[in-house]
Amino acid sequence: MKIAMIGSGYVGLVSGACFADFGHQVVCVDKDDSKIESLNQNIMPIYEPGLANLVKRNVDGGRLSFSNDLKASVENSDAIFIAVGTPSRRGDGHADLSYVYAASEEIAEVITKPTVVVTKSTVPVGTGDEVELILSKKLPRDQFAVVSNPEFLREGAAIGDFKRPDRIVIGTEDDWAKDVMSEIYRPLFLNESPILFTGRRTAELTKYAANAFLATKITFINEMADLCEKVGADVQEVSRGIGLDNRIGSKFLHAGPGYGGSCFPKDTLALLKTAQDNDSPVRIVEAVVQVNDQRKRAMGRKVIHALGGEARGKKVALLGLTFKPNTDDMRDAPSIAIAQTLMDAGAIVSAYDPEGMEIAAEIMPKVIMTESSYEAANGTDAVVIVTEWDAFRALDLGKLAKTMAGKELVDLRNIYHPADVEKSGLNYTGVGRISKS
Ligand code: NAD
Repeated sequence: MKIAMIGSGYVGLVSGACFADFGHQVVCVDKDDSKIESLNQNIMPIYEPGLANLVKRNVDGGRLSFSNDLKASVENSDAIFIAVGTPSRRGDGHADLSYVYAASEEIAEVITKPTVVVTKSTVPVGTGDEVELILSKKLPRDQFAVVSNPEFLREGAAIGDFKRPDRIVIGTEDDWAKDVMSEIYRPLFLNESPILFTGRRTAELTKYAANAFLATKITFINEMADLCEKVGADVQEVSRGIGLDNRIGSKFLHAGPGYGGSCFPKDTLALLKTAQDNDSPVRIVEAVVQVNDQRKRAMGRKVIHALGGEARGKKVALLGLTFKPNTDDMRDAPSIAIAQTLMDAGAIVSAYDPEGMEIAAEIMPKVIMTESSYEAANGTDAVVIVTEWDAFRALDLGKLAKTMAGKELVDLRNIYHPADVEKSGLNYTGVGRISKS
């Protein structure tokens, strides 16, 4: 199959490279010239494990190329995927669909043979109808079909997720579009990944329902963690105790600083707006959004509490800035609100992150970026583990204690045993574990 991928970000680039690896002919398009220039030199514009090798293998094999020329790239495609961003619209929290519609306008100008246009971006229910309308203004109805094929990959594990997905959801009522999509995903049928053919609106909503459910699970265990701290229980054990129940499952039950990233915050908000617009409120998701918003600054206050209630003039090191490990993505990362809360209270904040510091330095210019965990911790009163990168899982706690001026280790991911930390002379504060005060 000949595939054009419009948008070469986290989703477009990974999906495009994986489709090429399946044997399809793929061109990834982006309007950001610098991205295309780097990709053409095999320099990845994002950090995603395994991506550089995958891209190189498929470029060398002649199956994958990059371009900023949409018209030339989509010519003769069997399918054109739209994988552009759908951030929150400023002011009202609706999904900003301007990139999706702009891409659709461009596609409408250049299709010359029957083509399947696929929205891979996360888009609210009814967006496919709008894309169809845009295309139908320029093209005869039998020249195209609009399909929803939401993406469920996780940054940091994106290639594995794309190649071995729990399921593939394809929303269309068009039989020929179903055939094209089946051919594109055929290598995965062989892997026995379930493919769900649904209506287009159903597919669009499925993506939001999945993300809202996962965000709810995270927020649920975070509230349990707060309750654990008050009643002297341990959330790690509560989590294991409920997660072993197959009806609940153990994933997404790790208490922490609240969800962030490029998807959950914007997608939960967009779902609320869709629900409100359709007069069908989703009150559980409303509560999730509110609780999670408050949690990030609350984590900053947790650090201040560990410092004895006063942060003015104190030095704090943040280990991990990205919203999760194995990515450089800083979008809506909890570290942003935590750093701001600490600085608002007069603290001096240093930080280290294995991949996120370049982008983080632009977002939080007052935070002192350092080259290692120990450099960040040097002379500080508290060290805070914000993101559970492997690099922070086996710190030399004795060395850390000697490097620091104070004694507080705040572990917002519960990756250390309190007893091990205390043995090295540090005070331990976790999330949902018995508080020392
Ligand atoms: P991103 O910001 O990393 O990439 C989007 C790219 O699209 C950018 O490089 C931008 O320059 C390009 N672009 C925008 N308009 C264009 C146009 N008209 N022509 C060509 N290129 C254009 O975004 P992302 O993280 O890859 O997310 C893309 C979509 O996938 C979003 O809807 C997101 O919600 C969804 N999604 C993301 C993830 C994830 O983990 N990042 C997972 C599942 C779904």
